[in-house]
Amino acid sequence: MEIIDSHIHCGVQHVSQPFSHIQPLLDAAGIRGACLFAPVEDIYDRYHPHFDDNETWVHCRARAHAYLLNLAATQEAIFPYYFVWNDFLVEDLERGFVGIKWHHHAGEPVYHYDDPRCEAMINAICRRRMPIVLEETFRQTLNFLERINGRTPVIIPHLGMLNGGFHLLMDAGIWEDETVYADTALASEEAIAGFVKRYGPDRLLFGSDYPFGEPGFELERLFSLGLPRRFLEKICAENILALFHPVKG
Ligand SMILES: [Zn+2]
Repeated sequence: MEIIDSHIHCGVQHVSQPFSHIQPLLDAAGIRGACLFAPVEDIYDRYHPHFDDNETWVHCRARAHAYLLNLAATQEAIFPYYFVWNDFLVEDLERGFVGIKWHHHAGEPVYHYDDPRCEAMINAICRRRMPIVLEETFRQTLNFLERINGRTPVIIPHLGMLNGGFHLLMDAGIWEDETVYADTALASEEAIAGFVKRYGPDRLLFGSDYPFGEPGFELERLFSLGLPRRFLEKICAENILALFHPVKG
C-alpha cells in the first residue's frame, strides 16, 4: 500500500529536524513520501506575542523554504508546503510549493487578517486550488473557513485537537463541509474512528506531525483501528495526492 505522511516539520535553523533524520523513520515504516512544512520556529518568533517581523526573520523564512524546495528537487515524493507569514508574498507561491501552512496558537504572534495583502494572498492561494493546513484558534478557524468559502481545500490538523477540538468543530458543522479535510496526526483513536464513521474515508489524511509524533508509531495507531483496506488506501495516500493538482489562474 502506498503511504504518504501528510504532516512533517522539517528544518535546520532554530530546531534540528533535517530530512536526514526523517528519511530513516519513513523507510523503516514503509512510508514512501512526505508533505514537508518548515518548523514554526523558523517562520516567526512564536515566543513573543507582539513580534511582527524584521530582516533576520525574512531571511530565516527564505532559507527554510529554500531547504524544502531543494529537497523536493532532489528526492522522490517530497511535497513542499509554503508557510505564510505577515509579509504575504504572493510571488512565492510560484516557486514550486504544492500546499500552504497557516499556523497560530493562542499566545503566539497573530496574522494580520485585515491587511489587504492577506486578502490578496488568500485569493491567490484559492485561484491555485492549493490545500491549506490550517491550525488556528476555534474562532479564527470559523472565520477563515467562511472567508475561503469552499474555494480551496482546507486541512484541519490533528482532527481539530488544536483548533478547538474535534467535537466543537463537529457541533459547528465544520466536518460536513466537503472541502474540509482532517489529518490523523496525534488525534485520538476515538476522533479518527468517529470521523470515518460519520463522514467516510475520503477527507481524512494520514499524518504524524513529526517531530511531535513518530511516523511509524502514528501509522501503527491508524492501522490498529481495523478500518477496511480500501479506506486505508485512501487515508494513507490517495486523498492527499488527489489534492495536488493546482489550477493556474
Ligand atoms: Zn504540525
